[in-house]
Amino acid sequence: MKQVRQRTFLIALLVILLLTGTVVFCIQYAVEGRHWAEFSANDHAYTEGRLSSGQILDRSGVLLYDAASGQYAEDSELRMATLHAVGDPDDNISTAAKAALASHLIGYNFLTGTTTGGHRLYLTIDAELNRTAYEALDGRKGTVAVYNYETGDILCMVSSPTFDPADPPEILDSDSRYEGVYLNRFLSTAYPPGSVFKLVTAAAAIENIPDLFERTFSCTGSCEIEGDTITCPYAHGEMDFSGALAHSCNGVFAQLAVELGGDTLLQYVRSAGLLAEQTVSDIPTAAGSFEIGTGSQLGWSGVGQYNDMVNPCSLLTLMGAIAGDGTAAQPRLISRETTMSGISRIPEEHSEAVRLWPSDTCQTLRAMMRSNVLTTYDQSRFGDLPICAKSGTAEVGGNLAPHAWFCGFLDDPDHPLAFVVLVENGGSGADAAGSVAAAILRQAAGE
Ligand SMILES: [Zn+2]
Repeated sequence: MKQVRQRTFLIALLVILLLTGTVVFCIQYAVEGRHWAEFSANDHAYTEGRLSSGQILDRSGVLLYDAASGQYAEDSELRMATLHAVGDPDDNISTAAKAALASHLIGYNFLTGTTTGGHRLYLTIDAELNRTAYEALDGRKGTVAVYNYETGDILCMVSSPTFDPADPPEILDSDSRYEGVYLNRFLSTAYPPGSVFKLVTAAAAIENIPDLFERTFSCTGSCEIEGDTITCPYAHGEMDFSGALAHSCNGVFAQLAVELGGDTLLQYVRSAGLLAEQTVSDIPTAAGSFEIGTGSQLGWSGVGQYNDMVNPCSLLTLMGAIAGDGTAAQPRLISRETTMSGISRIPEEHSEAVRLWPSDTCQTLRAMMRSNVLTTYDQSRFGDLPICAKSGTAEVGGNLAPHAWFCGFLDDPDHPLAFVVLVENGGSGADAAGSVAAAILRQAAGE
């Protein structure tokens, strides 16, 4: 009888252990299953360490990459124009969809695991708009991006230099033609902003200097700040505050920066979202930086020089928020996701809103940015598009030509588009980067 009782106890113990183990496994499977499936040794999703399931398409269904065959888009120019969005064969571009959004391509499902052949991932980009941006860059290094500030959809995202992922060249570290080629310059870099930064100084001035719009400014081509000279390309003469932005007068903005003080300026750089990393469909972006200098350093930092650094994606979001009266959608890269048989997955991602400066500050900036185009940048280059913009020509030192910036948005409810163009060592911002912006915006707005 005693022996029976002992055995019963033993069996009960084993049953409890089995049940406990099953429960622990089920919990772990529910929590960690996705990560197990994404492990590169899973031969349902990977072949010899390479992802082998899923497809990447543009927003209208143009096939950009098929993981099962390893094939890219048919057209070589399209492959080069979309390289940094799609990815390279070895996944050296870690922020591209192939590498960063692999879990979406694998299409892991709690019930079927990874046996369904992966998912179709539709990116928000328009491949043909990328092609136009790539052609407009014309071999120069830089980045071009356009996004819908109401939905968050990034319609165009080009980074240059690039290469053909279907026929990758041998790239040596010392080869300047391919400098930083594995970086998506839009997401992962920060640059000196030059005069596009004047929009931040302008916002701080609008909110903190009560008589700003009653003032008349005078520029003789240079001004002194604590024994140092701040220079303009030529004497801008007399102007009001709106004129100072349209002429991009360094003297006016350097003196305003000193009047506002470093702490106030820093507060506006921060509230502009320029110091924080963002996430674009869970892909992290680079943060910018701002250092409070003294005297003329503070002056130069107010015109986007000194140690100012800005990430192009953060700048794009800022443009969207100025256009949207202080609110913009967070940029995103995933448009939708379906199974291979076309069944939609419930979208996980909802574009969050980014909040910035108060609405009336944004409206004032918007009017000034519209005036920039009408008085300085030549509206005829942009057809009938109601463009609001700011150019930047950022000195980079040495004998190198400055970086050319052009950023802004369309003030048009039918086309809520913001844009950023950067041409490295492109020279004048309005000329070099402005021309690229004109080409893509006309296409994006269907002109
Ligand atoms: Zn000036």
